[in-house]
Amino acid sequence: MINRTGLLLLISFCLLCLLASHPVAKADDYNTIEQMLTELESGITIPQTELTAKITYLKNQLSERDRAYYLRLQAIICWNFDADTPKQRTLAINFANKQINNPFIQQSPEHHLDIQLCKAWFNQIDGKVTQALKEYDEVIQRAYQIESLKLIADGRSIRGAMHSFQGNFSLALEDLITAQHLYDNLGLNHWSQINLSDLATSYRRFGDPQTAIKYYKQLEARFTKLNDIDAATAMITEMAIAYEELGEYNKAIEYYQKSYDHWQKQGDTFSASAIAVNISGSLIKLNRISEAREYLSQASPHISSKDEAFYSFMKLFEAEISLIDENPSEALDALLEAKSAFNRVKNKRGLAQLSQIESQVYTSLGDWPKAFQALERYVQLHNELDAKMQSNRTTEMRTRFNTEQIETENKQLIELQKARELELHILEQNRYLQLAVIILAVIVILFISLFAIKQVQKSKLLAVLALTDHLTKLPNRRQTYSEAEKHFSDNNSKLSLILFDADHFKKINDNFGHEIGDKVLFELANISNLMMRKTDLVGRVGGEEFLIILPDTTLEQAIKIANRLVESIAKTDLSHLSPTLSISVSAGVAEKEQDASFSELLNRADTALYEAKTNGRNRAVFNTQQTD
Ligand code: GH3
Ligand code: MG
Ligand code: MG
Repeated sequence: MINRTGLLLLISFCLLCLLASHPVAKADDYNTIEQMLTELESGITIPQTELTAKITYLKNQLSERDRAYYLRLQAIICWNFDADTPKQRTLAINFANKQINNPFIQQSPEHHLDIQLCKAWFNQIDGKVTQALKEYDEVIQRAYQIESLKLIADGRSIRGAMHSFQGNFSLALEDLITAQHLYDNLGLNHWSQINLSDLATSYRRFGDPQTAIKYYKQLEARFTKLNDIDAATAMITEMAIAYEELGEYNKAIEYYQKSYDHWQKQGDTFSASAIAVNISGSLIKLNRISEAREYLSQASPHISSKDEAFYSFMKLFEAEISLIDENPSEALDALLEAKSAFNRVKNKRGLAQLSQIESQVYTSLGDWPKAFQALERYVQLHNELDAKMQSNRTTEMRTRFNTEQIETENKQLIELQKARELELHILEQNRYLQLAVIILAVIVILFISLFAIKQVQKSKLLAVLALTDHLTKLPNRRQTYSEAEKHFSDNNSKLSLILFDADHFKKINDNFGHEIGDKVLFELANISNLMMRKTDLVGRVGGEEFLIILPDTTLEQAIKIANRLVESIAKTDLSHLSPTLSISVSAGVAEKEQDASFSELLNRADTALYEAKTNGRNRAVFNTQQTD
């Protein structure tokens, strides 16, 4: 039983092992593949050669049979065409079109949409802005339908950046804030960073430096943590610009200075010079003219008229200083240079600032009409900028309201997704649990069955033992009488009995010992049993008394059998037990006649036995109810 149970447990264990180990084939390969795919999807910047090598490796490793991996790879391939070259952009769009029509890709809505989004993005870069926007709208709508948070975030982040660039601030903020919230909740740090930078720039463009600073600060912290100091410095510069816009010039200088020191240390003279121009602007506002002059003279040799963004302001600040130095003609020359540069890049804010200085210069020259004209231009530009700002404020009110709604929607989506994941997890767990329970139940049932079988065997044995005489292995009195009763109640066939008893058995015990006595009893049982037919039954019904049931046997036949038995026993050689030992029996024979019961028949056999004893023993006597 232990062996069988052991085997069973072993089989169950192997079954469990088999189940648990199912997906482990080629585990090392799949680990590498999973790692690479995750890295390529993360948004981390990877050098071009490394990128190409990784994609090539994955292309060689994966086929459509590795369904999930293969689908992810197709999206990665699409996104990694070089967006800077027109030829690559065309290749990307062709690749995307081919995949969009591929039935295999169509089976997975998520990857199908991802590739559609990729195509739309390349269309945007390629200048097909209207088409791109239409495609973005479609992808985002479908992403909401299939409740794919990552795709919603990707779609809205890209569409938001486009809206921001086009000056549609309300739409830009709505998209970028939604994406930001989703990326943060999904823990997609790199995508979150890229989106946050777009979001901050939108706020800056939108005229909300305070909010822009808040986001730039977050980004600076993240870049510093990642040890990307150039990127962190870029954020510091953005913050300085925002502080300047807020009129916090000391703070602006402090941030510009950090950035300036960094580029100087890096040996990037151009970037340092560009920052120097900005520093001088803030210094002039604080009336720290000599310091401002120093920064400007440092920047001047490194910034040419082609670098309009910096050159324009550099000339404007030079003009301001000349004005303060009471050198209006020098100021006018500088203003002319600045004006041409501002006009080239259509910088209205710069032009407004310039007109104000221009008016002051003409005033100091006593040219009142020109001073008035410049002032008029300033007021006009200022009003234009103000109106734009006003409309942006209205936008902000609207967006703030929508944003709250969006965040509630996002939260619901995220909760839903979490609940789904939990449900799936529980289902998966239940599957294993069910299996374990089934296996355990089988084991338990087998145990119980084996135990039950054992019990039945045991009780059968007990029953047999209860009906057997332990010394002679013959049926005991109970069994013998019960069998005899059965034969007696069968009225269709004859029945005879031989009841025999060992003669002077007490003496055998006395002379040879009880143990020999037992052996003699065993011999008697054996002899009588061997002499009978299969249908006959010999039972031990008393100490040294035996009953033989002879079905279908007449009295005549029974007497013959009894005589043969008595003779055989008397002749039996028992010298192997003791040299002088011999035994005889007396028998009483009776046939079923008019007897009312088995005990009446047995009584007649007993009477015959008694007669045999009294007639000298070692003989058989019969009893009959017939009178003659
Ligand atoms: P009789 O010829 O009149 O039958 O004389 P007997 O001595 O055989 O009769 P009695 O009834 O006086 O004695 C029976 C003896 O059989 C007494 C008892 O000790 C012995 N005996 C009964 N059962 C066993 C047994 O299982 N083993 C042994 N060794 N002796 C037994
Ligand atoms: Mg007796
Ligand atoms: Mg006796």
